Amino acid sequence: MKRFLLAVVVLVAALAAVLVYNTSRAPVSVAEASRPAAITIDSAGAIARFAKALTFPTISWDPGTHPVDSAAFRGMQAHLAESFPLVHKTLKHEVINHLSLLYTWPGSNPALAPVVLMGHQDVVPVIPGTEGLWQQPPFSGAIAGGFVWGRGSLDDKLTVLATLEAIETLLRQGYQPKHTVYLAFGHDEEIGGQEGARVLRDTLVARGLKTAALVLDEGGAIAEGTMLGVPGRIALIGVSEKGSLSLELTIKGKGGHSSTPPAHTAIGQLAKVIEKIEASPFPATLDGPTRWMLDALSPSMPYSRRLAMSNLWLFGPVVEKAMLAKPPSAAMLRTTTAFTMVSGGVKTNVLPIDAKAVVNFRIRPGETMQSVTERVRRIVNDTAVAIRDLGFHSDPSPVSDPKGAGFAALAKSVREEFGANAVTVTPYLVIGGTDARYWSGLSSQTFRFMGAPIEADGLERVHGTNERAPLASYVSSVRYLVRLVRNTDDIP
Ligand SMILES: [Zn+2]
Repeated sequence: MKRFLLAVVVLVAALAAVLVYNTSRAPVSVAEASRPAAITIDSAGAIARFAKALTFPTISWDPGTHPVDSAAFRGMQAHLAESFPLVHKTLKHEVINHLSLLYTWPGSNPALAPVVLMGHQDVVPVIPGTEGLWQQPPFSGAIAGGFVWGRGSLDDKLTVLATLEAIETLLRQGYQPKHTVYLAFGHDEEIGGQEGARVLRDTLVARGLKTAALVLDEGGAIAEGTMLGVPGRIALIGVSEKGSLSLELTIKGKGGHSSTPPAHTAIGQLAKVIEKIEASPFPATLDGPTRWMLDALSPSMPYSRRLAMSNLWLFGPVVEKAMLAKPPSAAMLRTTTAFTMVSGGVKTNVLPIDAKAVVNFRIRPGETMQSVTERVRRIVNDTAVAIRDLGFHSDPSPVSDPKGAGFAALAKSVREEFGANAVTVTPYLVIGGTDARYWSGLSSQTFRFMGAPIEADGLERVHGTNERAPLASYVSSVRYLVRLVRNTDDIP
């Protein structure tokens, strides 16, 4: 008995030692001495140029509902040409597929794979009737209270304007990059990017492009405030994005008078199918980009949380359970299931001849549109249910390597601009969709990141009401991009 107790004590002590050892990784402290001198930007001018770009209603409506307002796009493009004269004099400038923009800045070493900086010119509409909820009109480009206001101020004119402003600044300094730099600004990201980003990619591939040293698009940003108890800012660099698939489920009925119904009408049967699918959520796994994120953040977490995060071999299930309890973190662990539309029946006393539901899946890396569809068929297990893919779908993108030179250039630029010890850089999984997916097959260094600090409620403002960018965020994102272009010289 004594020996047994001794063994238990030794085991517990060993366990405690392992836990404490794993938890003892301190946050990586990076020397700030290497921080390059401040970059001078004409802040007032830059903000005014940015704000004016927001006055052009370059809206992507759902296809078939409204004509494309080409004049709005051309108006904004004229504004860009006027605002960035050196860019338009020095870089080759082309309009691709009517409204997309492609700029080519030849590098000093043509043997190097190019760098592709992406962004999109289009914005989502403001829901009609909600204009009055805006503190500043959505297409005013108002500068007030320390913000630039308007649709596109975060998504994604900030990126387009900041990129051009950064390159104008570099040209003024007489700088030329080593890598050829392409600027690829699509015009239909908000409706899938088929006409914009995809055509821009195909254009460059047709001209001989085989790979890129770095591809950068929107996606993550710099989170303000404390997330998971990590002090300071967190730069979330998207290394992959989830796929998307919408399936329509249809059940046919016989119709007839509602006074003589079967036990279950088509609507009742459909309800059962919906219940079945919702009762079988996809498995959750704490691996890949989400695991890397916890690994990167845990050294900066408070001790109790760090203890769990640094010992996922033991506490993994507890951490998983906590993450699954909240939809935003649950979405990082699994393929999500969302029934978004349902219809059936035409009159109160007529039995429905069919009932339909649409379910949207956001697919995590490791699964595919095909594996998701097969799983749904297995769960439904009923030939009376017709399952149809509604298109506008994508597999999850390949996962980019956060140990590569492109990621290193991004991380270095973020630390230079925002202070190495004031920001934690981490890879993460983008749960929405971006134009970058058209590129991820061409470069293992395809990332989704906007180097601008956004407000804690910034994500609700994107596509929502009162979208706005803090003035300081815009100016620092320009400086960060200046640093980034210079740091791409380090990429072999
Ligand atoms: Zn966007």
